[in-house]
Amino acid sequence: MSDLDHQDICIVGAGVVGLAIAEKISTHPVLHKQSVVLLEKNRQFGQETSSRNSEVIHAGIYYRSGSLKALLCVEGRQQLYHYCKANNVPFLNTGKLIIGGQNQEAALNSLYEQAIANGVNDLQPLTRTDINSLEPEIDACIGLLSPSSGIIDSHAFMQSLLHHAENAGVLFAPLTQLMCVERCAKGFLLTCKSQDMNYRFTCSQLVNAAGLSAQTVAQGIMDFPLQGIPQQELVKGSYFSLQGKAPFTHLIYPLPEPNLRGLGVHVTLDMSGQVKFGPDTEEVCGLDYSVDPKKEPIFRKTIAHYYPGLGNKNLLPAYTGIRPKLKTDDGVADFVIQDGSSFGYEGLIQLFGIESPGLTASLAIADTVTDLLCH
Ligand SMILES: Cc1cc2nc3c(=O)[nH]c(=O)nc-3n(C[C@H](O)[C@H](O)[C@H](O)COP(=O)(O)OP(=O)(O)OC[C@H]3O[C@@H](n4cnc5c(N)ncnc54)[C@H](O)[C@@H]3O)c2cc1C
Repeated sequence: MSDLDHQDICIVGAGVVGLAIAEKISTHPVLHKQSVVLLEKNRQFGQETSSRNSEVIHAGIYYRSGSLKALLCVEGRQQLYHYCKANNVPFLNTGKLIIGGQNQEAALNSLYEQAIANGVNDLQPLTRTDINSLEPEIDACIGLLSPSSGIIDSHAFMQSLLHHAENAGVLFAPLTQLMCVERCAKGFLLTCKSQDMNYRFTCSQLVNAAGLSAQTVAQGIMDFPLQGIPQQELVKGSYFSLQGKAPFTHLIYPLPEPNLRGLGVHVTLDMSGQVKFGPDTEEVCGLDYSVDPKKEPIFRKTIAHYYPGLGNKNLLPAYTGIRPKLKTDDGVADFVIQDGSSFGYEGLIQLFGIESPGLTASLAIADTVTDLLCH
């Protein structure tokens, strides 16, 4: 792209959400003829939150009925399984156990009710005997089985989305950071930095899918009102991996933390069969992705509650991810998919607070964005 080119649509951020939007535009009956550029500040796609998560395909159990998280998770999960099958993206429909103690029956029941309200109708209550036969190493009195939960190779998924989008003509611009945006007769005038050079181009429609940096991008849009930028807090999650052969075949989750701050230190499996425990929740001020090895004893104690066989097995610091959590009065945050026209910015769409289940919901989030782009 050269200085002062024009693109119909510019997407900022090649995480799983920006990539899904690019792919959906490229196959959209109305939008596919539009010229599209996908900007990414890093050398590669998906180097931030999209490669620092549990890679779980969530069923849609936890989220408030009617919320975007609930609606887009359920819809996105169905699309994701379909996409994986159609495009040879590795996934496994492992199923998931949500487990509790005898005194947590009421909490499990309300999770069951929440799932039904969200359209997740396949949960099965489990007794101790059921749990023992599904997962002999797990110690829990009661539980729920979610058959539609699973895992995905998220890198392969993102690679596939990019491949489709590029084949359909989307221009992927890595190492290109959007710095600021002005308004102009053609829509938006963007200034980008690419390998120490600044250049500018215009676009008619602009999609801010910058993940943890969505607020920074919004602040760089000339005169965009501050009340249109939801406040964000950073909540880090650390993972430890279990050395050796996997003792489990399902994902195993304790009950979620209050206000869904996190889903509790759970067991996830990756496509190679490796067991990871995490993520915990820790408020942080900046993007430091290192794992604090001093957390190991706390993880060990938490995990031993439901996996007594952990004993002295090795837990190794694995990786961390940072949740772009929105601040709300009641502490329960939803995705925000904002149509800029409500702030007088026609053609601007901004995504804020795309934390979990953003990977599962990505294809459904992309549908919502393409609908807005067609207005
Ligand atoms: C610990 C953890 C566990 C999770 N587990 C799950 C899970 O199991 N299942 C699930 O469904 N979801 C999960 N999630 C949520 C999921 O990972 C995210 O919702 C999803 O990855 C968000 O994707 P994104 O594209 O919005 O953001 P990102 O992946 O952060 O992508 C944004 C991109 O924008 C780029 N960018 C930023 N600023 C600019 C700029 N100025 N110019 C150009 N490019 C820019 C960044 O470099 C980045 O590549 C988890 C999240 C965390 C943190």
